[in-house]
Amino acid sequence: MLLRHTPKEIKERSALVINPAKTCQPIGAMYAALGIHGCMPHSHGSQGCCAYHRSTLTRHYKEPVPGTTSSFTEGASVFGGQANLLQAIDNIFTVYEPEVVAVHTTCLSETIGDDLPQIRDKAFKEGKVPAGKEIIYASTPSYVGSHITGFSNMVKGMVSCLCEATGKKNGKVNVLPGWVEPSDMTEIKRIAAMIGVDITMFPDTSGVLNGPLTGKHRTFAEGGTKIADIRKAGDAIGTLALGEWASADGARTLDSQCKVPCRILDLPIGLSATDRFVDALRIVGGTSVPAELELERGQLVDVISDMHQYFYGKKVALVGDPDQLISLTEFLVNLDMQPVYVVTGTPGKRFERRIKELTADAGFEVKVKAAGDMFLLHQWIKNGPVDLIIGNTYCKYIARDEDIPLVRHGFPILDRVGHQYFPTTGYTGAIRLLEKMLDAFLDRKDRDTPEKHFELVY
Ligand code: SF4
Repeated sequence: MLLRHTPKEIKERSALVINPAKTCQPIGAMYAALGIHGCMPHSHGSQGCCAYHRSTLTRHYKEPVPGTTSSFTEGASVFGGQANLLQAIDNIFTVYEPEVVAVHTTCLSETIGDDLPQIRDKAFKEGKVPAGKEIIYASTPSYVGSHITGFSNMVKGMVSCLCEATGKKNGKVNVLPGWVEPSDMTEIKRIAAMIGVDITMFPDTSGVLNGPLTGKHRTFAEGGTKIADIRKAGDAIGTLALGEWASADGARTLDSQCKVPCRILDLPIGLSATDRFVDALRIVGGTSVPAELELERGQLVDVISDMHQYFYGKKVALVGDPDQLISLTEFLVNLDMQPVYVVTGTPGKRFERRIKELTADAGFEVKVKAAGDMFLLHQWIKNGPVDLIIGNTYCKYIARDEDIPLVRHGFPILDRVGHQYFPTTGYTGAIRLLEKMLDAFLDRKDRDTPEKHFELVY
């Protein structure tokens, strides 16, 4: 009963967040930056911020996360952090030899008003950046937005600092995958390869945050999109941006900067969203869907049909990031489940509109909140229980207090593994989601059914 003081009575709150359903912008910027090969994420602020960002990513991915900091002290806080950043850039290229340094700001450097584009120019002019190496940057004040905003801002930073158009199209298709797991990035590439579309995906954290234990130390992992490939993204024939919140800004910037037309899609989680992704790939690449992928789709439909009775009518509380929740909500509605509470910590009224649209004809009432928190979700659950919670590890407190099964999904997952290696995107990923939900329902039934009704198969 760790949350025993959560009251049932709901009061309007405007200035107080309790148990947030988000984390800070630089964590997203750092995660995106790690998807570039040989990239050193750099936190322009105090050491404490950087330590927090790195440790949160490490706890989720169970991998070491490289990162450097401008190490602000009182002096930088008063006079600005330019000198610290210039010194840091010099040190980083000398000591760690990255291909690129990805600088993101923090609350403190944003409040001071440090001018990153100007400092970047100065670093180049003063010869602190070796030939062929790069600096990219993103403004990530954590008092607005969330880790998803930070991810989106860094993807936009990749585009504005690196992408170029030569005027000659290269026939490739850009895919901006949004904030998904490294396993999902592998899955997205696998689907594109099956359909025969030559893609450039950035960022790409597969092989970076789910790498093998080799016994040898290396500062930068093997994976990540190469800078040369991101530069050429300006010559692609099109861009598919997965997730309005995490990828759309980057794709639209690329469109206006290099005239690469873009389509904004939902994350390919669940049957319908994956169908749309596959269809978009097929159209933009001018190819057709192979039989192997049709087989995977058929298997998913088969599992849905075999197990439909266990999903039908189940009430679910969802909490997490907007792009994930939109696709999950649609998937649950497709399964005849009832996602009755949907909460994201990331702001944006259009999120609420989208969830309402997806559930409009489903025959149940949905409560949805953007810029909400887990305290509110808990209160909703106290006033109207659900059969399942889907969310990150912090949901375990609500799940335990209310005795409701929890399927861990989203960020961060601190107390389980698997998300790094097994995707939830694509058709096979959807089967994994079904398996996890089914396990949760049937384990609960096995636990709660009285002995006289206990059956081998329900
Ligand atoms: S001060 Fe701001 S950037 Fe630093 S850890 Fe806190 S919220 Fe994040």
